[in-house]
Amino acid sequence: MAKKGRLILFSGPSGVGKDTLLDILFEKCPDLQHSVSVTTRAKRDNETEGKDYHFITVSDFKKMQKDGEILEFNKYNGNYYATPKKPIDNWLKNGKDVILKIDVHGTENIENLYKDCCLSIFILPPSIEVLEKRLRQRGTESEEDLQGRMKIAISEIKKSEEYDYRIVNDELEKAADEILAILDK
Ligand code: ADP
Ligand code: 5GP
Repeated sequence: MAKKGRLILFSGPSGVGKDTLLDILFEKCPDLQHSVSVTTRAKRDNETEGKDYHFITVSDFKKMQKDGEILEFNKYNGNYYATPKKPIDNWLKNGKDVILKIDVHGTENIENLYKDCCLSIFILPPSIEVLEKRLRQRGTESEEDLQGRMKIAISEIKKSEEYDYRIVNDELEKAADEILAILDK
């Protein structure tokens, strides 16, 4: 029987380095598929439509939801984030491994929907202080947004014990190598 793909659920608090690590993983593993989410939050200057997210309006989101195009969604810090349904099943059927950048609620929902093929990885910061410093240095959030993200981070980190693997992103290359080893790549 053909090998079924895996759903790799990739989580961690805002600013921990998920996107930075994903850039390395996708470069080193061109066979990994990236489930690009839709979001209603504003695009950051360093982001590309279709690569980082599909940036949509709230009414687009509601329409996708009504049309059954959404696998799971969450409202995070005031904006909707959702996984489009269509590509996932095709990739899995064709034996592809798929990475989803997703928050802790999304992970729980996907694990309930796909019971036999999920692998969850949570990225931790070396400390809360380092996390805040990284978020500030990135310089993409207002102070209010940043404070909201830090508050959510603390509750997300508490949930990290429910993940299959927890990786500390201190030294970037080391963290990337640890993830590649987990994925057997
Ligand atoms: P996330 O996608 O989790 O929100 P980013 O990938 O945008 O986080 O990273 C947040 C900031 O931290 C960026 O400025 C990035 O360059 C920096 N960063 C990521 N990983 C490390 C690391 N291991 N050491 C130092 N800085 C890092
Ligand atoms: P950011 O605004 O920093 O890009 O993302 C905020 C949070 O939303 C992160 O925790 C990220 O993992 C999560 N996220 C991104 N896409 C999705 C998605 O499709 N579904 C869910 N549930 N969370 C997502």
